[in-house]
Amino acid sequence: MRTLTLLGSTGSIGRQTLEVVDALGERLPFRVLALTAGSNADLLLKQARKHRPLMVALAEPSAAAPVASELCSLGVDVKTGPEGVLAAARLGADLVLNAIVGFAGLEATLAALAAGSTVALANKESLVAGGELVVRSLDAGKGPLVPVDSEPSAILQCLRDAAARSGLARVILTASGGPFRGLHGEALRRVTPAQALAHPTWRMGSKITVDSATLMNKGLELIELVWLFRLRPEQVRVVIHPESVVHSMVELVDGSVLAQLGVPDMRIPIQYALTYPERLPSPWPRYDPVARGPLTFFEPDLESFPCLRLACEAVRIGNTAPAALNAANEVAVEAFLKEQIPFTAIAGLVEETLRRHEPESASSLEAVRRADRWARQTARRLVERGTWR
Ligand code: NDP
Ligand code: MG
Repeated sequence: MRTLTLLGSTGSIGRQTLEVVDALGERLPFRVLALTAGSNADLLLKQARKHRPLMVALAEPSAAAPVASELCSLGVDVKTGPEGVLAAARLGADLVLNAIVGFAGLEATLAALAAGSTVALANKESLVAGGELVVRSLDAGKGPLVPVDSEPSAILQCLRDAAARSGLARVILTASGGPFRGLHGEALRRVTPAQALAHPTWRMGSKITVDSATLMNKGLELIELVWLFRLRPEQVRVVIHPESVVHSMVELVDGSVLAQLGVPDMRIPIQYALTYPERLPSPWPRYDPVARGPLTFFEPDLESFPCLRLACEAVRIGNTAPAALNAANEVAVEAFLKEQIPFTAIAGLVEETLRRHEPESASSLEAVRRADRWARQTARRLVERGTWR
């Protein structure tokens, strides 16, 4: 039986992962070693009752108190704070699935790799901010690291054949375009958090849903792909594909294009990450090309959605620029969700933070943390002063 640690088990990806584990059942049994959350102790307790992990961790220390005694009576070791989450990541499970949201996930990815676990990575921010550190660990023989997100999973699936990999010319990364495709100017400035959270094709956590609406999500994925598949940024072409059926394509040197298709349902790529490198039958919805209708593709509108352009700039600048971009974006998304800034100010805040950033080498965790801290402070100050106006 394989052992599994699930970081971020109470989130959208975390909950769907447990659904996939249940559906795989005896065909691919997992022993859950640890579950972690930010502050949602009630759901964590429910999950612990069912899966009986050795350990649970809550990043928010005060969240644990109401559930600690019941967890202890179940024989579960309760840890708290970021260190507690890292302890779970370090348990040495066969597979650590990292579904934490944001920069908070980076150290857990590094800790799990260092402990010798295979990492199934949903937390793209790990690679955006700390790509060099993660890749160094993989080059030292740790891992492997298997992407969970549908687009990098699609590319991995297209490239499984080694011959395809050596013949790779470029990657065509698809984006749904989010709920505001076609809007610009004042109409875009006035969109509300509730509208941003109503994604047309995917049901996800709030941060990534806003990232999808600004196209920053595609920018973060572009950076993720550069590290995962060792690409040059110009080898990634982003196209808008509102149906979210083609999860990405790879173009080979002879002009052949391989694509991976499926209905937009994260349980399919999550299952692939859990069964990798094998495949097992699944109960998840099937793609019917006739019922789904035409598949369409468009150029992204970089003028109305500058976040994608900013992510391209950050990855070209390199060093700590992507970490600064990521941190400024996390602050800006939070400020937008709290209605402190308008939607279009997200890009403005990120751009201004990036403009002020003096990148340094991103080859140490300390440098990446420093850039992250600096960019958060800078972006928060910009929010407070209303400099985005
Ligand atoms: P959610 O917000 O739904 O879940 C995030 C999880 O992380 C929750 O378990 C949350 O706990 C936990 N968490 C929050 N803050 C911290 C912290 N500081 N330390 C430790 N744990 C924390 O996000 P998603 O599941 O949507 O996304 C997770 C990651 O997967 C993101 O990086 C996202 O970009 C990526 N991803 C998501 C997809 C999706 O379909 N949802 C698709 C592809 C990628 P709590 O519940 O207590 O707040
Ligand atoms: Mg994606």
